[in-house]
Amino acid sequence: MSGTRTQWIGELVDLLRVTPGSSVTLAKDFDPSFTADFVEKKDGTGLLAESVQLLAAYQDRLAAQDTDGVLLCLQALDAAGKDGTIRHVMSGVNPQGVHVSSFKVPSSEELSHDYMWRYAKRLPARGEIAIFNRSHYEEVLVVRVHPELLQRQRLPSETKGKDIWNRRFAEINDWERYLSDNGIRVLKVLLNISKEEQRLRFLRRLDIPDHNWKFSASDIKERQYWDDYQRAFSDMLSHTSTRWAPWYVIPGDHKWFARICVGAILVQALEEIDPRYPEVTEEQRQQEAEAKTALMAEAPPGAAPDPFGG
Ligand code: ATP
Ligand code: MG
Repeated sequence: MSGTRTQWIGELVDLLRVTPGSSVTLAKDFDPSFTADFVEKKDGTGLLAESVQLLAAYQDRLAAQDTDGVLLCLQALDAAGKDGTIRHVMSGVNPQGVHVSSFKVPSSEELSHDYMWRYAKRLPARGEIAIFNRSHYEEVLVVRVHPELLQRQRLPSETKGKDIWNRRFAEINDWERYLSDNGIRVLKVLLNISKEEQRLRFLRRLDIPDHNWKFSASDIKERQYWDDYQRAFSDMLSHTSTRWAPWYVIPGDHKWFARICVGAILVQALEEIDPRYPEVTEEQRQQEAEAKTALMAEAPPGAAPDPFGG
C-alpha cells in the first residue's frame, strides 16, 4: 500500500515523537491542549475515519504476511481517555487480529514472578496487533510513586538499591530491543492531560448520571500525587524513548485530536512494516486451476459451471 500515506500522518507523528536520548520535562516540554494547525477539528471525523480505514487494510496484510507483530502501549493518568481512544481507533479492525490487555494491580500469582512476566504473556503473535491498556511502564510509574508497591514485589534486598529505576529503564530498553529484533514493533503512547482537564472530567463523572459508574474515589486520591507522576513520567520518557521503541506524547485535553494522533501513529508504523499478501507460487496456481476445473465439472445440469469467473 505504499504511496497511500497521506502527508499529514507523517508530519503529525514526527511532531509527537520524543527524540531518543533527549532529556525532557513533561510539564515544560509538552502542552496537553496542543492541536496541530494542519489538523482542524472540523476535519477530525474524516481524518480519524481515514486512519481507521487504512488500519483495517494494513491489519489484513499484517495477518497475511504473518512475520511481524505490533504492540501499542498506552499509558496515562486517570480520565485521560485510554478506553475511548482504543474504542475509536480500533473501531474498523478485525477483532480476531487485535488483543487488548488491561493491566491492573498485580495478583498474588503475578507478584510471585519477575515483574515482566505478566506482560510477556500478553505479547502479540506474528500477524497480530496487541494493545496494552497500561503496560510494563507501570513498573516505573505507580510502583515508583508508591514505594509500598515495590515492597509487595518481594525482591531480594540487594536488588532494591537506589539505582533500581535506572536498572529497570535499562532492562525495559533491552527487552523492547529484543522484541524489535524478533519482529515485534513496539509503540508507546502517553496520553497527556492537564490537571485542570482531569478535574473537569472527574466532575463530569460525578454530575452526569450516565457517567457515574466511571467515578472512583481512588482516582481522586491518586490525583494528589500529580507532581510525583509528572516527575516519574519525565524520567521515564527521558530514559526509554529509543530508536527501536520511541515514545509519543499525545496532547490529551482534546479527545478528538488525541484519537487522530494515536490512529496516525499506528498507521505510520504499519506503513513502515509495509506488509504484503504472500505471492502465489506456480505450484499453488496449478493446484487452484485443478480445483477450479474439478468444481466446474460438478455443476448440476442447467447451472453455470462458474458464475463468478470464466
Ligand atoms: P479505568 O479506570 O478506565 O477502568 P484503569 O486502567 O484506571 O482504567 P483501574 O482498575 O481503575 O483501571 O486501575 C488500575 C490500577 O492498577 C491503576 O491505579 C494502576 O496504577 C494500577 N496498576 C497497574 N499496574 C500496576 C502494578 N504493576 N503495580 C501496582 N499497581 C498497578
Ligand atoms: Mg481507573
